[in-house]
Amino acid sequence: MNTRRDFLQKIGASALMLQLSSLTSFANSSVQIGHPYTGRVLRVAIMGLGGYGTRVAEAMNACSKAKLVGVISGTPSKITDWQRKYNIPEKNCYNYDNFDQVKNNPDIDAIYVITPNALHHGQVIRAAKAGKHVICEKPMALNAEEGQEMVDVCEKANVKLLVGYRMHFEPRTLEVVRMRNAGEFGKVMFFQGQCGFKAGDPKQWRLNKALAGGGSMMDIGIYALNGARYMVGEEPIWVTAQETKTDSEKFKEGVDETVQFQLGFPGGAVASCLSSYNINHLDRFFLSGDNGFAEMQPSTGYGPIKGRTHHGELVQPIVTHQTVQMDEMAGIIFEKRTPVIPVDGKEGLKDLKIIDAIYRAIKTGEKVMLTD
Ligand code: NDP
Repeated sequence: MNTRRDFLQKIGASALMLQLSSLTSFANSSVQIGHPYTGRVLRVAIMGLGGYGTRVAEAMNACSKAKLVGVISGTPSKITDWQRKYNIPEKNCYNYDNFDQVKNNPDIDAIYVITPNALHHGQVIRAAKAGKHVICEKPMALNAEEGQEMVDVCEKANVKLLVGYRMHFEPRTLEVVRMRNAGEFGKVMFFQGQCGFKAGDPKQWRLNKALAGGGSMMDIGIYALNGARYMVGEEPIWVTAQETKTDSEKFKEGVDETVQFQLGFPGGAVASCLSSYNINHLDRFFLSGDNGFAEMQPSTGYGPIKGRTHHGELVQPIVTHQTVQMDEMAGIIFEKRTPVIPVDGKEGLKDLKIIDAIYRAIKTGEKVMLTD
C-alpha cells in the first residue's frame, strides 16, 4: 500500500525531517507531521458505489481529516456490503429517490458524487439544496452551461463545490508546479499532454453519449487539458482540435474516439494534446521552458507518478492520491485552506468551457477564441 501513512511509518523521524525540508509543497500539506489530528473531521457520503467510488472509499480508510460515514446508491446489495465493510449506520444510507432527506441528517457534512457524467449536474444541485458540501467527480458536468448552474446553486446554498482533481494534490506534480512558479524552467514555451487507453466493453456507460456526454475527451482527455493549464500556469486564449475515428460502430455519433487539440497561451506557449479511447500506454506530460524541462510518465494514472526534470529524478513521496485529496479537501472546507492548484467548481467550469470549445473546433474546423 502506497499511503502517506505507510510512508511515514516506514521512515524514521530524522530521515523524514530531512526529506520533507526539501518538499515545500508537500510539507505545506494540511496534515501536520507528527501531530495527531484533533480538529473537525469531514463526514462524507459517497454517491455511486462503482469502480471509482470503491477506490475512494478504500483510500479514505487512511485519512486523518475525512471519514466515510454514508452511502447513496441504486443497488441495495451494495449498500448492505458497504454498511458491513465500513460500519455505516442504516440512518446514513440513501437511494437516488430519497437522498434529498439528507438535509435532516446532521451526521453527514458532504456528498461525493461518483456517478456517470450526465448525472453530476442534477445530483450536485440536489445535494447542495439539501445543505451539504459537494465533491463532484470529473468532468464536473456535460457542458459549461450545466457547470455554471452548479456553481451558482452551490454559492446560493452557501456550500462548497469541489471537483475530484486528485492530481492537484500529488507531490511530484506539485514540485513541477513549484519549479515553474519559481522560474526554474525559464520562459515556458511548450506543453505536451497525452492521455488515453483502449476502452473495452462497448456497452459501458462511457461509450453512451447520453450518460457520458461525449467520448474520450470527457473522460481522459480532460487530464491533458487540465494538466496543460496547471503545468503552463496560464489560461489558454485559443483552441484548435481534430477528431479521428477508426471504429464508428463502437464509437457512435457524439462519442469521440481520438481527439487531438492544441491550445495557445497568452505568454506565447502552445500545448499539443492527445486524448484517446483507442490507444494504450498514453499517460505522459512534457513541459519545456527556455532553461529546463519536466517529463512525467505516468503523469496522471493512480501512481506511482514518475518523472524527471533538468535537475534529475522527481523524488517526492509516493502517496495514495485519493487519501491525500480527501484530507486536503477537508482542510479546504473546514479550515478555509487554499490549494496550490484550485479544485473548486470554478476550476471545473474552466475545463468545461474549453471542452465546449474543443468540440466546436472539431465541428467547424476553425480556431476557437476563448473569452470569459
Ligand atoms: P462505474 O460505472 O464503475 O460506477 C458508476 C456508479 O454510478 C455505478 O456503479 C452506480 O452505482 C452509479 N450509477 C447511477 N446511475 C447509473 C447509471 N445510469 N449507469 C451506470 N451507473 C450508474 O463508473 P466509475 O466509478 O468509473 O466513474 C464514475 C465517475 O467517476 C465518472 O464521472 C468518472 O469520470 C469518474 N472517475 C474519476 C476518476 C479519477 O481518477 N478522478 C477515475 C475513474 C472515474 P450504484 O449501483 O451504487 O448506484
